[in-house]
Amino acid sequence: MSTADEGRVVKIGAIDVVALSDGRVPLPTQRLFPETPEEVWTPYRSRFPEAFDASGFLINLGSFLVRTGERTVLVDTGLGPISLWPTLWPMSPEARPGPAELLDDLRAKGVRPEDIDTVFLTHLHGDHVGWNLTKDAGGEWSPTFPKARYLVHRADWERFTQPQFLDSGRREAAERNYLPLDDLGVLDLIEGDHQVAPGLTAIHAPGHTPGHMGLLISSGGQRAVIVGDLVGGPAHVSEPDWPYAPDFDAAQAREARHRLLDQAEEGGMVVMGSHMTRPGWGRLIRWEGKRYWQAL
Ligand SMILES: [Zn+2]
Repeated sequence: MSTADEGRVVKIGAIDVVALSDGRVPLPTQRLFPETPEEVWTPYRSRFPEAFDASGFLINLGSFLVRTGERTVLVDTGLGPISLWPTLWPMSPEARPGPAELLDDLRAKGVRPEDIDTVFLTHLHGDHVGWNLTKDAGGEWSPTFPKARYLVHRADWERFTQPQFLDSGRREAAERNYLPLDDLGVLDLIEGDHQVAPGLTAIHAPGHTPGHMGLLISSGGQRAVIVGDLVGGPAHVSEPDWPYAPDFDAAQAREARHRLLDQAEEGGMVVMGSHMTRPGWGRLIRWEGKRYWQAL
């Protein structure tokens, strides 16, 4: 494994992973970890200064581009240009502009939207699906990545398209972010542990959402895992039992968090997460009996 390009590319055997970001957003710690007293964040503030600002978290909206030689896979599509995501703006449900950096970041790295053949969505929360679709001149939604199949776990699709869910004030966001994928004929629903491409395996790790997935990357005897939102940030690796408010099923999420992090540690895998500090990858180390994520 080696890193290059100012730390924004990591090689896992013959597979390249490029770190991308849709920008960063501030969020009070209490919004994500309401049961965790403010002072326990202090050691993590000094260990991971990039993950915090003066008032709380500074959340990286991370995506990854995975290149296998034959395939170009975009993992998650950020918050997008306009967000209706209730975790970020619970007090005011109107749409707000996001930092919207992902397409510029792709362009800066020489990647065109039509180069991407697969969009792998770890889950359907609003900060992971924001650039899936673009409104064309006629006002119709079309896929932002015109040659891509969009992969979603069936359990997430079922959950996030339930009429009851959509009718609870989420229909507009769903229309903007993922609902049209089905009618446009670009959606593939997957289940179980699914091979996305040689060396890339989707792992169902439910709890954060019913169909939340990780992505295992394996090549040339080296392994990495994209854990999605299994952890809410670098400190959550060390404190896997801290309840994370966006989790759909807290007990199931905690179990999945322990299981995948244990596997990653035992297997010496590089751990990549959506909300880790940029570029978003690190190793798991032990220090005074505790597990830490250490950025590479
Ligand atoms: Zn997220």
